[in-house]
Amino acid sequence: MQTEVIVIGGGPAGMACAIWLKKLGVAAVVLEAAAETGGLQTVNPYENLWMPGVQGKTGQDLAHDLARHAEDLGVEVRLNCPALRLHEGFRVETPEGEMVASHLVIATGTRPRAGGFTPSATVAIGPGTPMEAMAVEGRKVAILGGGDNAFDQARFVTERGGQATIFSRHEPKAQGVVRAMTDVPVVVGPYAADQQAMTVNGQVFDLFGVMFGFEAVVPPGLDLKFEDGYVAVDRRGETSVAKVFACGEVTDYWHACAATAIAHGVQVAWQIARG
Ligand SMILES: Cc1cc2nc3c(=O)[nH]c(=O)nc-3n(C[C@H](O)[C@H](O)[C@H](O)COP(=O)(O)OP(=O)(O)OC[C@H]3O[C@@H](n4cnc5c(N)ncnc54)[C@H](O)[C@@H]3O)c2cc1C
Repeated sequence: MQTEVIVIGGGPAGMACAIWLKKLGVAAVVLEAAAETGGLQTVNPYENLWMPGVQGKTGQDLAHDLARHAEDLGVEVRLNCPALRLHEGFRVETPEGEMVASHLVIATGTRPRAGGFTPSATVAIGPGTPMEAMAVEGRKVAILGGGDNAFDQARFVTERGGQATIFSRHEPKAQGVVRAMTDVPVVVGPYAADQQAMTVNGQVFDLFGVMFGFEAVVPPGLDLKFEDGYVAVDRRGETSVAKVFACGEVTDYWHACAATAIAHGVQVAWQIARG
């Protein structure tokens, strides 16, 4: 299969890029590894308070709205179709065979860091639906990590009737406003957490929430330049490889949120279309 642009990743960045490419008359295909588009917003069941001009909608609503917009425009999206390896030229290996395009857009985002833990019925890795899937009422929950997500999730556990304790190896990095909203014990300093025994520093817990931040996910194969683990891009969104662009959280170019991911996707689409 041959097209002008292959957009790898159907999160907010990739979907916004594909929607704009379609409107600008550039042939593009979105490859999405998951069974649905929307990326991390699909695991966000909370109201997205950070989309200017959009109120009363959850992250999952936003994921759905982007998917519907793309579908209405006739954007071609292949679900359950990960880009397995990228080659110069550009060829993209997928489970459906090889695809060829003159431009690539890498919009593969990030995944929560597991830090050696394994997701299970008692251990949630990352915020959102993994945490919400655990029945926390009346249970002792250790939240590991000291960022915004650790404090947000500890607050949600408390609101759902659980008993949360935050363990942070270093002085928490969570914003003051987030910390101020969260009234749970915070243990600062080195700790030993044992998933088998479900203990932290020997204290037994029913559930763990692992909130160790996120790491970029990048398909292998191209000699891309990285900065601090993220794909380096210029202001046009182009990577160190000509005609390979990247947008959204995989780049760490802007503050990580849905609005900037969408804006970055738009920027890349515009740059590709103007040539
Ligand atoms: C619980 C939670 C709550 C959040 N709440 C908010 C909020 O309220 N407001 C806000 O603005 N932001 C919020 N965020 C952050 C926001 O979701 C992200 O900033 C945004 O989704 C980043 O978009 P992205 O497209 O760059 O990456 P992602 O959303 O990570 O999307 C990347 C996509 O690429 C796909 N992919 C990865 N590798 C491959 C591959 N090899 N081949 C094909 N596809 C691939 C993934 O499956 C995924 O669908 C939240 C995040 C979480 C986890």
